[in-house]
Amino acid sequence: MINVAIDGPAGAGKSTVARAAAAQLNYIYVDTGALYRAVGVYALRQGAETTNREQVTALLGDISVELKFVDGEQRVLLNSEDVSAEIRTPEASMAASNVSAIPEVRAFLFDLQRDIAKKNNCIMDGRDIGTVVLPDAQVKIFLTAAPEKRAKRRYDELIAKGSSVEYKDVLEDLIKRDYNDSHREVAPLKPAQDSVIVDTSDLDLQQSIEKVTQIIREKTI
Ligand code: C5P
Repeated sequence: MINVAIDGPAGAGKSTVARAAAAQLNYIYVDTGALYRAVGVYALRQGAETTNREQVTALLGDISVELKFVDGEQRVLLNSEDVSAEIRTPEASMAASNVSAIPEVRAFLFDLQRDIAKKNNCIMDGRDIGTVVLPDAQVKIFLTAAPEKRAKRRYDELIAKGSSVEYKDVLEDLIKRDYNDSHREVAPLKPAQDSVIVDTSDLDLQQSIEKVTQIIREKTI
């Protein structure tokens, strides 16, 4: 199977770029952030403190997370309930970042990610795909951009969805998540040694997609 790992900080465009590249190349697109978001949402629903290792770990036995692909679109099931929309709120983002620092949560989601990659040609996006989940991926890309650009994109996305958020809050959240993600002890966000770094600060979406698709094509012929 051909496996492509795309890692990078929040708002770098990973999901949009990976989804478009996957459609062009006929691979499935796997958004692993959705798995951490589902665990985060469950912890929030149970009133747990999402930074508390014991509290969150105690819940894992009650959780089943599955990914379903409907017409190429990923849906996330939390105990059989489709939570694909609910996991996209700012609260869910922060909860995901918090629970993702807990080693038991990472271990809990590991096999699911590996199994999908074993069975499918896929582009998988996340924070530790090239470094931990798929160290043997044929292509590894680290997609990044300046924090202000990433916050602006995230802000535009949330506004388009009808959320009433402030740009400065989006930027603050994003910087906090970047810090959490790159400073945690397990699987911190960092480029794999053999990754190609793509900075999308000055690229529009179309250019970012072209660049990534071109890298994948070059490395898989
Ligand atoms: O990519 P997305 O913003 O949906 O991810 C939500 C959170 O899940 C990230 O901030 C990160 O903390 C965590 N995550 C992770 N490892 C992954 C994917 C996401 O730790 N492979």
